[in-house]
Amino acid sequence: KPAIVWLREDFRLADNAALTAAAQTAAPLLLVYIRTERSSGMTAADWFREKTLARFDADLRQLGGGVHVFTGDPARLLPEIVVRVGAAAVFWNRRYDPIGREIDAGLKREFAACGTEAHSFAGALFHEPWTVKNRAGQPFKIFSAYWRAACEAGSPRPPLPAPREFKFFAGSVTGAQEEQLSWPAWTSSLDAHHEFGEATAQDRLARFVAEDLGHYEDERDFPDRDATSGLSPYLRVGQITPRQVWNAVSDAPGGLAHAAARAKFLAELGWRDFAWSVLWEHPSLDGHALREEFEGLPWRNDPSGLEAWKRGRTGYPLVDAGMRELWRSGVMHNRVRMVAASFLVKHLLIDWRLGEQWFAETLADYDPASNALNWQWCAGTGADSAPFFRIMNPVLQSRKFDPSGAYIRRWVPELKSVSDKDIHAPWESPGTRPANYPLPIVDHSAARRRALATWERVRGGD
Ligand code: FAD
Repeated sequence: KPAIVWLREDFRLADNAALTAAAQTAAPLLLVYIRTERSSGMTAADWFREKTLARFDADLRQLGGGVHVFTGDPARLLPEIVVRVGAAAVFWNRRYDPIGREIDAGLKREFAACGTEAHSFAGALFHEPWTVKNRAGQPFKIFSAYWRAACEAGSPRPPLPAPREFKFFAGSVTGAQEEQLSWPAWTSSLDAHHEFGEATAQDRLARFVAEDLGHYEDERDFPDRDATSGLSPYLRVGQITPRQVWNAVSDAPGGLAHAAARAKFLAELGWRDFAWSVLWEHPSLDGHALREEFEGLPWRNDPSGLEAWKRGRTGYPLVDAGMRELWRSGVMHNRVRMVAASFLVKHLLIDWRLGEQWFAETLADYDPASNALNWQWCAGTGADSAPFFRIMNPVLQSRKFDPSGAYIRRWVPELKSVSDKDIHAPWESPGTRPANYPLPIVDHSAARRRALATWERVRGGD
């Protein structure tokens, strides 16, 4: 009788608690992935997940196994598969999104009622999202307090090694598909920017720890330097776990000299945990402002402004470089995500939820918790946010964090020949702006005044 390992966000052999526990039963393993039917087109995150799944399957085939892929509603399909193969037990690592957790709880009840063993394990976070609480037993609203408490709870347990011995279920599994997905044309530009696989993720971590960790704190905000880990898509699909990252970072050489960089980097990973804990408490985080007063903010209906922002044609080079990086590569540097998000919400006064949705479609590392929390943070609508009245100046941000314009030139080729000095605001010096690059769609000072006046009205309650 096989043991089923239901894969969802955990395409890895090492530090995979569900897989390890299933292997320890000595039953042959049946690895199952259930693709849900899409009501709309493929997103960049779907693309990354599917490519990862294909790579994981190929890796498992080298070991004589593979992943059995099904399409449909897991609430119906998983019990059917259990019956079809006569499985002894089902194992999975927990996920924490509102829909997923409801499906999993329903399945747990159903399996309990029919006597099938179902074992679930902590997912890919440092702490389960409901566990880090303040002294009054309440969830934290502020990251710094959350992270202090999380760190006081102790280091995460060491990552598990890949199970040394296991065998795959060799019987036939009716309903499993060998289907080749067809990729929409737009995904072809993503291919050049990503590599897949558990080993690739581990290599990337090792390289980051060896080469970049020591100057992470000083350089992480500069988008043209390859100074961050680039691990977010791998973390999202579980090709690597935060525990593995913690372990590698804690063991990194550099001693006290690198202590601040290490602490800063681990705290960034802490934001990921924090986001999941906030989503756990507020399942409608992507649709509802945490600060109620912002629900009354009169957002502008501006389809052409929204389109210019999505396509990287706002006339603000740093914003445009970021939005084009996103469209072409499926990722965007964190500093530029902040500037681009702030521009949409404050300069254009467009509802943050529309930006959140665009990121959800186009980010390869799209994560419902981190994306929603960060959008609320940038919009000023979250509990632990930059205040709404603090408005980032996209030109000053550009001069500060991309001083030579190298990042802008990489993504906005029209500006290739503009000087380092003029590239941040090419409309300011006569004859500098190439004809094929737009003028700013809003004037910074006027947009700033408009945002502040709108915010005053919301605050004043009229
Ligand atoms: P590193 O700097 O190397 O950080 C290491 C890891 O820490 C990241 O891989 C990520 O898992 C975590 N991390 C870092 N910063 C943050 C943060 N601010 N919030 C949560 N986790 C963080 N990150 C996502 O993973 N998915 C998203 O959908 C997402 N949407 C975002 C939307 C906006 C508007 C903003 C401002 C940020 C968003 N982020 C999101 C956070 C951050 O931009 C990315 O995690 C980061 O750019 C990934 O690059 P990296 O792996 O090189 O990061």
